[in-house]
Amino acid sequence: MKILVLNAGSSSLKYALYETSPEAIASDTDRLLGEGLVERVSSMAEALKSAFSALGPVLGGEAVAGVGYRVVHGGMFPGSVVIDAAVEQAIDGLSAMAPLHNPHSLAVIRAGREHLPNAVHVAVFDTAFHQTLPPEAYAYAMPPEYLTEKKMRRYGFHGISHRSVALRFAKLHGKPAAEFRLIVCHLGNGCSVCAVERGRSVETSMGFTPLEGLVMGTRSGDVDASALLHLIVREGEDPERLLHTLNNASGLQAISGVSNDMRDVLQAADSGNERARLAVRTFCYRAKKFIGAYLAAMNGADALVFTGGIGEHSAPVRAGICAELDQLGIAIDPVLNQAQSRQARCVGRSKIAVWVIPTEEQLLIARDTLGCLHPH
Ligand code: ADP
Repeated sequence: MKILVLNAGSSSLKYALYETSPEAIASDTDRLLGEGLVERVSSMAEALKSAFSALGPVLGGEAVAGVGYRVVHGGMFPGSVVIDAAVEQAIDGLSAMAPLHNPHSLAVIRAGREHLPNAVHVAVFDTAFHQTLPPEAYAYAMPPEYLTEKKMRRYGFHGISHRSVALRFAKLHGKPAAEFRLIVCHLGNGCSVCAVERGRSVETSMGFTPLEGLVMGTRSGDVDASALLHLIVREGEDPERLLHTLNNASGLQAISGVSNDMRDVLQAADSGNERARLAVRTFCYRAKKFIGAYLAAMNGADALVFTGGIGEHSAPVRAGICAELDQLGIAIDPVLNQAQSRQARCVGRSKIAVWVIPTEEQLLIARDTLGCLHPH
């Protein structure tokens, strides 16, 4: 069955077409028929048309049975759902909490439903995997009406990636996900850590928005909330501007003064740029602290897994994060860590193994979409 995956960014549309079936999923033989990226998108309907004309030859006139959409903020949805008017409305309602993401998802969903009226359309949320967080992990220590009335809680993001990596780890070990405790570090433009206990997310570093937690390309991660309020209330800083600074002009970019791209920052650090060195150290140190915390949250772990552009490709960052964690049972193997590969691989055979597993977000969206077409 042909399943189309659509992932809308702020000005781009990523697409992928899979041939899959329940049997193909069981035997891990789903096929990627084509994929691409439409950039500088002004209308999602136009972008979708470009995707279809690019995919024309591989579609071969066959109908697309299902379309899976990545949606960043799914509020309290605990899993993927078939999109109807009520689901569209819910995604729209969550736009206030994810103004940079949900409106784009909604635009592509509307275009997709119009373009393919006979297909089943499925929303796959980045938040859903974290709906298993226990209250002590998702609650902010604030008066309860902030949770009940303002919906202020930790939602967590990157759930599609964390889930895909946890499933792949279990598959590689020939056992069910329920047998493992994993700490997954998704390090890309956005970065988050997730504690996955028996296949369920029990703790994650992003919170009410994707700003909380780690240092990222242009995002600050954790900052004392009252320091920010101090800037607004006492220093007269404009709140919208501050929000923009924290999301778009902080992180690696701000500390290094060089770039938000880890490759550039590492290169500058190598050639002696002190600010770039500090950026890399701060990035690694923050990640290391979260790993320590999640070891405590799960009373240990079987493996630490790196994914995302930086996690998959940057040996020095993996080494920096894992340096001096041997007392906690984590050590990288310098030879295995340096080896270049696009495959899932072990890079440290310590008590807590260290792995690199490429994220398969698109494949997971395709599989979830098929799952909604063939409910068990
Ligand atoms: P997104 O989060 O947008 O999906 P990616 O997962 O592709 O992005 O991650 C982008 C990040 O990965 C960038 O900071 C980029 O510098 C980094 N990256 C990609 N390849 C390498 C590499 N070989 N070494 C270090 N960082 C890399």
